[in-house]
Amino acid sequence: MDLNYDYPLYRPPSEANSMIFQVTLGCSFNKCSFCNMYRTKSYSERPWDEIQMEIDLASKFYPETKRVFLADGDALNLSVDRLIQIIEYIYKKFPSLERVSSYAMPKNLLQKTDTDLKKLKNAGLDMLYVGIESGNDIVLKKVTKGATFKTIVESCNKAINNGFILSCMVILGLGGTTYSKKHILDTAKVLGEISPNYVGALNLQLEDGVYEEFMTKYEEPFTFLNDSQILDELELLVSNIHPKRNIIFRANHASNVYSVKGTLPQDKEKIVSLIKNLRGHPEMLKPKILRRF
Ligand code: SF4
Repeated sequence: MDLNYDYPLYRPPSEANSMIFQVTLGCSFNKCSFCNMYRTKSYSERPWDEIQMEIDLASKFYPETKRVFLADGDALNLSVDRLIQIIEYIYKKFPSLERVSSYAMPKNLLQKTDTDLKKLKNAGLDMLYVGIESGNDIVLKKVTKGATFKTIVESCNKAINNGFILSCMVILGLGGTTYSKKHILDTAKVLGEISPNYVGALNLQLEDGVYEEFMTKYEEPFTFLNDSQILDELELLVSNIHPKRNIIFRANHASNVYSVKGTLPQDKEKIVSLIKNLRGHPEMLKPKILRRF
């Protein structure tokens, strides 16, 4: 249902069937050099009466809604009181509702106390999607992520310890050829230390709007990985994640060279053998023209 959205509008692939309410517009950080999702928007928080009106409207047309996603880039930046007001109202208006989720940044999680997060979880915010991108501090700094290995582990573990279902996104190719190995080994390490419920591995694709900025902020020549090197990264990543609990791993985003998925650690060998097979069959990879970030 189109609720007079302020475009562009983004949601994780797994929220394709969710009702989306834009409770904030844009991203409160908006500085990651590889991301042009919200470059056309200034961050703002939507007034309660507008949000309430949209929830009322949607509940009339789709009373059986089971999943809701709170957009835009970091709804968790809202105050705890405002979020609870929104979430409780959504549950009231959609009696069949099973799950409410949103994007979150490490900084949003660190700014909230454990008590805040527990209150949000108890109100019915169930799942958070956090773009961690890399575990390597050099790469994180070069792409101006505004987070480090330490703050990523701290924030994501805080989410898990307070009961949230956590999905983390990482980006293959983000270290270019220079930092490829460090990027992947530290990303595997950070994912092992967090062991989120889900991991999505995307492929770096720079859109025109941020290409220059990315290259300038990188402060040294950046060489993109070719498909074979991306497969190397994927294999190295999967082989080196040592999870504390099961992780559902997916590299099946529109940006990926091939759709890979499984549960770690048990499907590690199956995924690695699929990647080895793909190396010998480049014709099986998705054509570049069909890949989107
Ligand atoms: S990657 Fe996330 S935190 Fe960074 S600018 Fe984009 S939306 Fe904001």
